[in-house]
Amino acid sequence: MEQVVEKQNDLIITRKCYQNLISRNVKIPLSSVPFHKDIAFIERFFCNEFPMHLAIHKVTNAKCMPDDYTQPHVHDVHEINILVGNEGELEYAIQLGEEIFYVQSNASIWIPAGLYHASNAIRGSGYFIAIRLDDTSLKLKTFANVGYQNLRN
Ligand SMILES: [Zn+2]
Repeated sequence: MEQVVEKQNDLIITRKCYQNLISRNVKIPLSSVPFHKDIAFIERFFCNEFPMHLAIHKVTNAKCMPDDYTQPHVHDVHEINILVGNEGELEYAIQLGEEIFYVQSNASIWIPAGLYHASNAIRGSGYFIAIRLDDTSLKLKTFANVGYQNLRN
């Protein structure tokens, strides 16, 4: 089940059957997402391999902008936003429907499908993670099968 793939110095690199469940996040600009534009203080990383939307935003010294870089939008799936960092150091303006909340790290926000929302960093540094619980039953099946088949081999 477990095989030695290569030996570097004294370090044995093994490749286990679940290797493909680990993905490298790649840098993809915010502007590639509808209703978003690039902003200097955010670096965005995306997990291309996962069967759902998983974006990680590295925020460095955010400053309130005259124009929001994220416009209110809506999805037909639930979304989760997570603010990670030193306690209180990162602040986002979170719009849920007609209401705006100023939320500091560390916090998680549940955004039900169909609710208008927007998330904009306004102050500080940390990480902002956005996960969409896409209805990807077909993609999930394919994704899960890879691990399953490897287990069988
Ligand atoms: Zn959204």
